[in-house]
Amino acid sequence: MIVLGIESSCDETAAAVVRDGRILLSNVIASQIKDHSKYGGVVPEIASRKHMEAIVPVILQALDDAGMELSDIEGIAVTRGPGLVGSLLVGLSVAKALAFSRRLPWVGVNHLEAHIASVFLNEKAPVFPFVALVVSGGHTNIYYVENFGVFTLLGQTRDDAAGEAFDKAAKLLDIGYPGGMIIDNLAKEGNRNLLPFPRAMRDSLDFSFSGVKTSLLVHVKKHGKPSSRQDLAHLAAGYQEAIVDVLVEKTLKAAELKSATQVVVCGGVASNSRLREHFAERSAEDGIDLFIPPPVLCTDNAAMVAVVGENLLSRGKIDEFSLNAVSRWPLDLPLSVE
Ligand code: ATP
Ligand code: MG
Ligand code: FE
Repeated sequence: MIVLGIESSCDETAAAVVRDGRILLSNVIASQIKDHSKYGGVVPEIASRKHMEAIVPVILQALDDAGMELSDIEGIAVTRGPGLVGSLLVGLSVAKALAFSRRLPWVGVNHLEAHIASVFLNEKAPVFPFVALVVSGGHTNIYYVENFGVFTLLGQTRDDAAGEAFDKAAKLLDIGYPGGMIIDNLAKEGNRNLLPFPRAMRDSLDFSFSGVKTSLLVHVKKHGKPSSRQDLAHLAAGYQEAIVDVLVEKTLKAAELKSATQVVVCGGVASNSRLREHFAERSAEDGIDLFIPPPVLCTDNAAMVAVVGENLLSRGKIDEFSLNAVSRWPLDLPLSVE
């Protein structure tokens, strides 16, 4: 089945064409980073407006890149939540309009399930069950995944998401937005063992990043913002290592507890080079098969939405046109609005 995916939950307007939930035919992503960077975070009202401007050209580009016309599309998948409601509604409305006018089956998809499903676009994909770490701008969750739609939450953050911890650190250091990629690059020039940052909640599968953030704040108050690029790099490397360390150790602990032999790492932070490197080293030691999508499929995209959509549509699920966007939608619980 050829599925058009549409994603607009946050600050990326994206469309993609995927065949049979496995083969990526096109993947177009219009980022709004420059529109939000001067505010140091996503401004919901600006995000919805930018989605409205971008959505039709992005879809047309995705069709064009796939060498297809709308008449070649057999189903539509769109992110329904979680995310910013005003932003989600843009994608959802366009998906409904296309489905209605073309009489196509369509389905609303959970963005977190989509992040996990992005791994099925890898040449070598995992088989159920597996343990998955979803580590992004809004979430840091460990799941036991038994099938599409069958998730058990094993651990989650008690405060900030890991991506948020990167973004807030970059804001504090005044080095740009969003912080993940900037810190990732800077850290390559630094010594990760020079400045010890705390690792919280060692005996739990839950995460907390407020301690490492406070520790950075205390360091900056005491010593001031680093004046040389080298000092900044050491700070970035030490800070990043503390986050990466707990992400890797808790996920592998979860795999051990569930006797899982495969681990999936996904979401925007999964594009972090040190996280990928450290996960690879530690999984090899533990005899775990590791699956991480390429960076472009870790951050928000619509290909991952099409993968989940294809699975739902091919099992006969079609949504009603009355379907609404949802800002909160835990993967492991029934949706309270339904
Ligand atoms: P969610 O998926 O939880 O709804 P989101 O969709 O906003 O949140 P993503 O687009 O999946 O999040 O990821 C964005 C986050 O990933 C940002 O916090 C960003 O800083 C972080 N990120 C991106 N690249 C890197 C990197 N190389 N290293 C660390 N973090 C990164
Ligand atoms: Mg984003
Ligand atoms: Fe996301």
